[in-house]
Amino acid sequence: MSEERSLNFLEEIIEKDLAEGKYKSIVTRFPPEPNGYLHMGHATSICLNFGLTQKYPGYTNLRFDDTNPVTEDTEYVENIKNDIKWLGFEWKNEHYASDYFDTLYEYATLLIQKGLAYVDDLSSEEIAQLKGSPTEPGKDSPYRNRSVAENLDLFERMKQGEFEDGARTLRAKIDMAHPNMLMRDPLLYRIKHAHHHRTGDTWCIYPMYDFAHGQSDSIEQITHSICTLEFVPHRELYDWLIEKLEIYPSHQYEFARRNLSYTVMSKRKLLQLVTDKYVNGWDDPRMPTISGMRRRGFTAASIRNFCETIGVAKRENLVDFSLLEFHLREDLNKTALRAMAVLDPVKLVITNYADGHTEELPSENGPDEAYGHRTIPFSKELWIEREDFMEVPAKKWFRLAPGAMVRLKSAYIVRCDHFIKDENGILLEIQCTYFPESKSGQDTSGLTVKGTIHWVSANHAGIAEVRLYDRLFKVEDPSGEEGDFKDYINPNSLQVINAFVEPSLLKASPEKRYQFLRKGYFCLDPDSTEKKLVFNRTVTLKDAWAKEVKK
Ligand code: ATP
Ligand code: MG
Repeated sequence: MSEERSLNFLEEIIEKDLAEGKYKSIVTRFPPEPNGYLHMGHATSICLNFGLTQKYPGYTNLRFDDTNPVTEDTEYVENIKNDIKWLGFEWKNEHYASDYFDTLYEYATLLIQKGLAYVDDLSSEEIAQLKGSPTEPGKDSPYRNRSVAENLDLFERMKQGEFEDGARTLRAKIDMAHPNMLMRDPLLYRIKHAHHHRTGDTWCIYPMYDFAHGQSDSIEQITHSICTLEFVPHRELYDWLIEKLEIYPSHQYEFARRNLSYTVMSKRKLLQLVTDKYVNGWDDPRMPTISGMRRRGFTAASIRNFCETIGVAKRENLVDFSLLEFHLREDLNKTALRAMAVLDPVKLVITNYADGHTEELPSENGPDEAYGHRTIPFSKELWIEREDFMEVPAKKWFRLAPGAMVRLKSAYIVRCDHFIKDENGILLEIQCTYFPESKSGQDTSGLTVKGTIHWVSANHAGIAEVRLYDRLFKVEDPSGEEGDFKDYINPNSLQVINAFVEPSLLKASPEKRYQFLRKGYFCLDPDSTEKKLVFNRTVTLKDAWAKEVKK
């Protein structure tokens, strides 16, 4: 964490707690529900929880909040672990709320014995009807005053599987007129005859989130339980349960959910994109999931830096996706290998260069000398970008045009003498002469040119599929618009093209990141095979070519 910025409100609380001796060290946890892949919102929570115990003495647990058997899956557990490790964090203990099912059952029994919980026979609709409203008190269930013995018996039989789903629930006995609606006898357990991904068919009653979460925090002696703002009204129940059960007093703190512009950040919505095939899976490079962004070529450092910059807030807001891209470019500019690829090719023929001759020209490999050099083959026929030629040049056009000169990156200065078009006016070929004395690094030609363009030798080029991505949604906040969020999907978020790449890219490595000169940052996609390379464009370059150009 950077030292310059002021403490966020959580750091202030922790520093005070440590200074007052309330704790010698702190314990936080990251508690995902394994019902989908992690997204950027989770990344902020991960960076926050793990970041705090990197800064202060203590540790962070990973706890799977797996109390809902229907939506959860072991596949998700493995991916979540993988994503956290990739982000660069290590948890101290790996826990599962389902490991606490026995303890939670005992806790529930204890509440019944204390007269603080009862079995209710009302259906969920009936319970809702008696709940009241924020301005009106609710009404007691007719089953509210069952004896402790009867409640214990019924709860045990719920566990034994005697009743159908929904037939009975266990509720805390608090106050049906409580100003906080969540304190109006909240549900603690429900009956669900469902197979659980870890406990199998052992249980047919499952604890509700509010009953499992705080108690799991307490079992693990979490000191600072950090969650998002929608849990503010739950804090009262969190504290009530801990107090009545007389267990370790964890404390809940809330911060604002982080949302990114031009995307959605809810597992439920992301799942719809996957199942309705708007994207090709959870790790589609357009998804705001950690796995999608990794596949797209985002680096862990750029995500961590982004999370650090946005910090923690007390109020929800939409964070601009371009801020994330800023951190990405910052990181990639320092680390990406340099290479040349032509995405929209047109042939350039050097008429005064010997047929069949090849030169291996050195070119810098990375952002500085430490990366060394590679060589690139140069020959008579090259591919260049179609957009680097203008038949009638615009003002301040420094690239190719009839009679104009340009430098070929790491090679020679060429002058355009002729161009050939087909009958439809489509440019087929540009013919140039080159100046042998203008070779990069040993230029004695005395010529000066303002533009430098990239190229690939036609005889040596590899062919690669290149996937160019645009925003997945057309509007800043698809969830905030009228109607269904899927109505705002950008139909052109993926463009697939074939490109010519310099031969060194045929040995591209999946771990490495590449800057295709002037075209952006790219990485190899796992769809690549020996026969067919596939690159993803991670992000475009900011139009910084002017500064990038070196002879
Ligand atoms: P979703 O609605 O996508 O399912 P969730 O909050 O239900 O999100 P969980 O798996 O329950 O997902 O969340 C694990 C942790 O990540 C929680 O502590 C939660 O508060 C945090 N978290 C989830 N989404 C965000 C977000 N957008 N910003 C910050 N923290 C988040
Ligand atoms: Mg959830």
